[in-house]
Amino acid sequence: MADPLKLLLVVAVALVDPDGRVLLAQRPPGKTLAGLWEFPGGKIEPGERPEETLIRELAEELGITVKEACLAPLTFASHAYENFHLLMPLYVCRRWEGFAQPREGQALKWVRPRDLASYPMPPADLPLLPAIVDLLGP
Ligand code: C5P
Repeated sequence: MADPLKLLLVVAVALVDPDGRVLLAQRPPGKTLAGLWEFPGGKIEPGERPEETLIRELAEELGITVKEACLAPLTFASHAYENFHLLMPLYVCRRWEGFAQPREGQALKWVRPRDLASYPMPPADLPLLPAIVDLLGP
């Protein structure tokens, strides 16, 4: 019998620049949910802590170096997709080394918190927006 509850663990981060803008990445063609804008991050591999996943993914996807002490948990998303249930903690990070560059063909955009809702997002990411606006202001 198929597992009725398939859990997918993903971690995401709101990278905040000195002007208070947040980085969004557009899922590239060929991926599921292509064209939608999401917070950078990725799947938590077995044995990883979410912070370790973020440090690895941000180096791979954006070429930036993040220290664990700069990752603060903010909130948590939970969404039932058709074939799996996604659990996704969201962290905030204001300090890193290097300049964020698209290393995996994704488009990047620094967006004011009040404008985040104008970007089409995966349904799991949308409920994260109020916590970001509460933290950073509009
Ligand atoms: O990025 P990746 O394709 O590995 O993510 C696996 C799945 O997790 C996606 O197909 C999508 O359904 C979900 N996801 C999401 N929001 C994100 C990242 C992933 O809903 N920010």
